[in-house]
Amino acid sequence: MNIEKLLRENIRQLQPYSCARDEFKGEASVYLDANENPYNAPFNRYPDPLQWDVKESISMIKGVDSQHIFLGNGSDEPIDLLYRAFCEPRVDNVVAIEPTYGMYKVSAGINDVEYRKVLLDENFQFSADKLLAATNLYTKIIWLCSPNNPTGNSLNQVEIIKLLNSFDGIVVLDEAYIDFSSQKSFTEKLTEFPNLVILQTFSKAWGSAAIRLGMAFASTEIIAVLNKIKYPYNINILTQQQALLAMKNASQVKKWVDELLKEREELMSKLLQLKLVQHIYPTDANFVLVKVADANAVYKYLVEKSIIVRNRNSVALCNGCLRITVGTPQENSILLDELMSLKYN
Ligand SMILES: *Cc1c(COP(=O)(O)O)cnc(C)c1O
Repeated sequence: MNIEKLLRENIRQLQPYSCARDEFKGEASVYLDANENPYNAPFNRYPDPLQWDVKESISMIKGVDSQHIFLGNGSDEPIDLLYRAFCEPRVDNVVAIEPTYGMYKVSAGINDVEYRKVLLDENFQFSADKLLAATNLYTKIIWLCSPNNPTGNSLNQVEIIKLLNSFDGIVVLDEAYIDFSSQKSFTEKLTEFPNLVILQTFSKAWGSAAIRLGMAFASTEIIAVLNKIKYPYNINILTQQQALLAMKNASQVKKWVDELLKEREELMSKLLQLKLVQHIYPTDANFVLVKVADANAVYKYLVEKSIIVRNRNSVALCNGCLRITVGTPQENSILLDELMSLKYN
């Protein structure tokens, strides 16, 4: 696997911006090198461009060496940077499972890169062979998401490994919902697969969507590429401080997850008792995909009741489906009460 060879020519040639904090690393008593205002500490100083304190903390929690971690402004940033690093606009292409998270396609569009969709089967599973059949010599990235959004299920790990072994490009595995899943993260397989990029985020189980912090785990070669092309100070100090605080309270996250999983089972069993519910798909995430009699009508009814779910009716394979996030016990019972009083029941 030659990561260099996969890169766009301009990115391979690029001489990255060297900021003051790159040129001098370590501790000093007087900093007069970055044209900062000496007043208004700590916000007067540029933050650590490589966020080593945050990465050390993540490393302890995830069991991944900090050299294998990239941090971005949400998962959105590594998604975009992977296109910019590897995909030549109008020449290269990417392949993705369908349906899945919408950002992979939007980012392809922004970067003028062809996006090839391969439909999942009726159990929302993929076949490595079918994805490979959609690739050609110009395919640089394959996008996978497990547990998948909006379907909620985990992808078959045997197929993921088959794909990693047989594809000569980058395989991205988005694990945004891994903390809610009974399946193991692929982070422990990082050293086996130099072409694997795993995405995780502070936005879901960590309860920190507002601070915008996404993680990419990958080989040091891929991490070096992302660091080379990112904005120098992409993670601000407020986000870094808040992430460190969140990780000090990691036991709270475990409690949230346990509670949400219990609440998910409760919500699913009560939804199943409603006549308007035709099917609930198996889920490993903090949401459920629910097939109902008339998705548009139920969605509209709920909006009128000031309850917002996600209408996935027009998404491939999700005809008639609503995606419902698991909320607090109180929020879930408000939803159930309103659905129970809907006329179909
Ligand atoms: C919510 C979600 C994310 C999170 O994106 P952020 O930019 O980190 O907030 C990433 N991937 C998937 C599949 C998601 O559903």
